[in-house]
Amino acid sequence: MTASTIGMSAFEIATLVRSKQVSAAEVTHEHLALVKARDGDLNSFLQISEEAALASAKAVDEMIAKGEDPGALAGVPIALKDNLVTRGISTTCASQILKAWKPPYDATVILKARAAGAVALGKTNLDEFAMGSSTENSSFGPTRNPYDLGRVPGGSSGGSAAAVAAKFAPIALGSDTGGSIRQPAALCGIVGVKPTYGLVSRYGLIAFASSLDQIGPFARNVKDAALLLQVIAGHDRMDSTSLGGPVPDLLSDIENGVEGLRIGVIEELIDGVSPMVGTALDSAANSLSAQGAQVEHLSVPAVKYGLSAYYLIAPAEASSNLARYDGVRYGLRVEGQDMNETYVASRTKGFGPEVKRRIMLGTFALSSGYYDAYYGRAQRVRTMIIDSFRKAYESFDVLLSPTSPTTAFELGAKAADPLSMYLSDVCTIPTNLAGHPAISVPYGEGENEMPIGVQILAPALGEANMFKVARALERGAPLIAKKLFWE
Ligand code: GLN
Repeated sequence: MTASTIGMSAFEIATLVRSKQVSAAEVTHEHLALVKARDGDLNSFLQISEEAALASAKAVDEMIAKGEDPGALAGVPIALKDNLVTRGISTTCASQILKAWKPPYDATVILKARAAGAVALGKTNLDEFAMGSSTENSSFGPTRNPYDLGRVPGGSSGGSAAAVAAKFAPIALGSDTGGSIRQPAALCGIVGVKPTYGLVSRYGLIAFASSLDQIGPFARNVKDAALLLQVIAGHDRMDSTSLGGPVPDLLSDIENGVEGLRIGVIEELIDGVSPMVGTALDSAANSLSAQGAQVEHLSVPAVKYGLSAYYLIAPAEASSNLARYDGVRYGLRVEGQDMNETYVASRTKGFGPEVKRRIMLGTFALSSGYYDAYYGRAQRVRTMIIDSFRKAYESFDVLLSPTSPTTAFELGAKAADPLSMYLSDVCTIPTNLAGHPAISVPYGEGENEMPIGVQILAPALGEANMFKVARALERGAPLIAKKLFWE
């Protein structure tokens, strides 16, 4: 092998593998060696699936030897959030309740990535059942930020974000219910995408809040993120919420620039952000305008209520989705005197404090007598938000906001105060409620020299425009000068 493939993009690796300049086995060995040497400090992986990875790499190399094309992700290492089910490989959701569970099937996104030649290295850490914004709610210990081991990587897909930022893999998959791909991407200085609701099959994603959950890509650059989304998108008969119709072409237009596009900066989402995040957003807006876009501020009034509506709707759906962990069908079982005691004992031991808090919040919001005052009202607010965005997109092609109000905070800083943790997602939640796509693009450094992310929001199925703007933003973005912990 000539040069090291560590730090290369997915495009570069696939090109080298397809043209036989490097083997998928060599790429896999190199990335696994780095993970083994360095992940002790980061805790981004809950499990490394070395044997399966080497077998996938071998299959790719055999296809190439036979003159066949393994696909757009030939030999590209990928990390998988541990709420995506993997056949025969334990899938924990970072919870004690699923600690020993080995699923009998693979999530559709994993089958699609593998069919395109990707090599899965293992399962990454998350907040238990994807509930959180720092990965500190994992029952297997927190993940750390690769730019500062004393700080959080964001969450809930903190393991996937940290692994990609640390160059353990060029790409990863996560899930985003209220910001869990975009917020950790911003805090770790990488790209993260929440696709349109229904664009990507959720068959094999362990459900948190089903009207909000979407699977999406992480990458260190915009084109790799578009490539991975292109691979995993599309209708799946195993997921009744997945959209029909052709997958939008995300790559052919991506370098075409923003000339003539109308971009709106959402005023409500700038209030209360840290000074350097605010400055970065201004500079991002100026850069897009210098590249020929028409950039203006606008008001999207209903987004102010997003967080409150989300913290009724998401826990309500979670309380229902998590009813299946009863100690009977699968997962942890703690015996009691009778069936009811067994349920209680299993759930008491198996779930962590944040999951219990969500189940209680959700059960309360759905309880008779309160249903309309809480859940019903939150649904009406959701309709207002959709309406507010619809009006905004009559005058703008895409919208701009910060991804997170601050850069990465210190471990423990918000762990004791759920409300301050919930506020981390104020900028990302409105898109989930509307079902729209959004992307976080790294934009230099802010407080404590930690990375900043700028968010681009688009209307439903507006991914192609969204990626075009993201690529333009990336072209003009200041770089992150800070070194990774192992560099
Ligand atoms: N941080 C938010 C929550 O705790 C969002 C989580 C997510 O998107 N999975 O619910």
